[in-house]
Amino acid sequence: MILQRTIKNSVSTRGVGLHTGEKVTLTLHPANEDQGIVFTRSDLETPIKIQVSPFMVTETKLCSTIGVDQFKVSTVEHIMSALSASGIDNIVIDVNGSEVPIMDGSSIAFIHLIKSAIIKEQKKPKKFVVINELIEVKDEDRLAKFEPHQGFVIDFMIDFPHPAFNDEDSHVSIDFFKDSYIKGISRARTFGFMQEVEYLRTNGLARGGSLDNAIVLDEYKILNEDGLRYSDEFVRHKILDAVGDLYMLGSPIIGKFTAYKSGHELNNKLLRALVENPQSWSLENLDNNNIEMAELAKNYLLIANEFSNKRIDKIQ
Ligand SMILES: [Zn+2]
Repeated sequence: MILQRTIKNSVSTRGVGLHTGEKVTLTLHPANEDQGIVFTRSDLETPIKIQVSPFMVTETKLCSTIGVDQFKVSTVEHIMSALSASGIDNIVIDVNGSEVPIMDGSSIAFIHLIKSAIIKEQKKPKKFVVINELIEVKDEDRLAKFEPHQGFVIDFMIDFPHPAFNDEDSHVSIDFFKDSYIKGISRARTFGFMQEVEYLRTNGLARGGSLDNAIVLDEYKILNEDGLRYSDEFVRHKILDAVGDLYMLGSPIIGKFTAYKSGHELNNKLLRALVENPQSWSLENLDNNNIEMAELAKNYLLIANEFSNKRIDKIQ
């Protein structure tokens, strides 16, 4: 039986918000079984709690924002991605501002933070969202869909009409029950186009954005002196985002997610469509009595143990 997980100790980090430019402290706290993932805003006079769910996502322009009434936490997708990859079910994420810090634009800093808090197994079984039938959403030529699959596959294709993007590096398919998130995905940074950055700044956004926390492109090329961390870093970052967006369900998925030019908005639409069609999925333990499920459980543990038993790989 695969058990729920939280962290053993509270840990903090500090960084700047990509859009607000504010300095923010983010603190992770342990949480009880079945509590799920909860964001809190400790800077408010009456601290608010936002329980993660697809229906708490209030804005999807530029990043995923969750909120209650006028209170919100923006850019939650990279920490959510790291929580998904490390198999954390129950945790409280406290921020003393309206945005999660951007760190280096990827999720590796959050992976290290979770690891430093020490992952702790709890007593109750972990629940998985098992996809039982095809479900898809479209928006013009964009597409996102779930299909049944024995594993957790993300198959992503991007298409940007820009000289720095080429066809070979626009498509990646990865099965997280077999392949390492830390090696393959965690260091892929967010990216933006210079013209957009200027436009965003005049509208009070992207204030914290710099070459230290994003890949920035002008009309022709990448402006970062050191270039890319992976030749296909752009699509790998879209996968990092999708892993975080899909974890708004609060449980790991057993199924295949396919995306063509998808983003935060379509990812969230797909989750809402899934939840509203209860015949298309079920919530299950990976029960060892069922051979297929036991095999899946073994694979899930292989990946999860990357975090609990071994040192995080050194990645060049
Ligand atoms: Zn992102």
